[in-house]
Amino acid sequence: MDVLRIPRWRLNTGGEIPALGLGVYQIPPGRATREAVQIAIEVGYRHIDTARIYGNEEDVGAAIRGSGVPRDEIFVTTKLWNSDHGRDATLRAFDESLRRLRLDAVDLYLVHWPVPRVRGETWKAMEAIHRSGRARAIGVSNYMEPHLQELLADASVVPAVNQVEFSPFRHRKGLLELCRGSGIQAEAYSPLTKGLRLGHPRLRSIGERMGRSPAQVLLRWSLQHGLVVIPKTVRRERMLENGRVFDFELSPADMALLDGLDEGLATGWDPEDAP
Ligand code: NDP
Repeated sequence: MDVLRIPRWRLNTGGEIPALGLGVYQIPPGRATREAVQIAIEVGYRHIDTARIYGNEEDVGAAIRGSGVPRDEIFVTTKLWNSDHGRDATLRAFDESLRRLRLDAVDLYLVHWPVPRVRGETWKAMEAIHRSGRARAIGVSNYMEPHLQELLADASVVPAVNQVEFSPFRHRKGLLELCRGSGIQAEAYSPLTKGLRLGHPRLRSIGERMGRSPAQVLLRWSLQHGLVVIPKTVRRERMLENGRVFDFELSPADMALLDGLDEGLATGWDPEDAP
């Protein structure tokens, strides 16, 4: 059987993260999630991105345990939901996520959104969780430059990751530079624009010229900008297609063409002006 080989990149913790993972947002809890994660692991994925709010942590954990692949080969991310901010609530929410996943530790625990007023206190709790060893890395999501600068001014632990919406249609250059300069690995969520721009003529023409699909062109673009990508699909063929992005390269000219597509696209919530 065809098995993907996905490279791992180094985080500021010294640990590694597979450069491509499976996102499981909007995969219904229960069998659908268990099957998707099981297939992903079968075809070679070693990185799963879930969150408390997705409602499918139990199934992610069950599929990982059922896969027969050693736990330490699979990178598991989950996230702190917005109503769980603050010191005690964060500690409690993390315990509950671990309990649902039935894991002793996660590889990455993210603050899902920069909730105003409480996020500073939350980050202190995240640091305590990291020190306990039960989250091998901690990080943030949807943090724009002001949120990150505020955090960095007061943090003992620099986030390992910032997960944000990123695609040629939402190209966050300044934020990327700040992440890079601070040793924070940026991760692209909705890297396929939730499917909304897969028919764009520029993507199609670059893909046709290279013998690649629009989805592969999008993922390759994010990877070449240095981002980890976490495309979501429930279909085996698409998991394979999305994973076959490490054996070709977009030219500087094609990268520039794609860079020019920025339209500030937000396919879901948009933290751009969040207080
Ligand atoms: P994606 O950009 O990954 O797009 C997913 C959609 O594209 C699905 O409809 C899927 O359909 C389709 N698709 C997948 N592969 C292909 C392909 N090769 N060709 C054509 N269509 C394809 O959207 P998401 O918003 O799900 O983002 C990915 C992950 O990012 C999430 O699952 C989640 O883990 C994370 N995320 C994090 C957020 C945050 O705030 N931190 C917010 C949003 C997402 P099908 O399943 O039918 O194949």
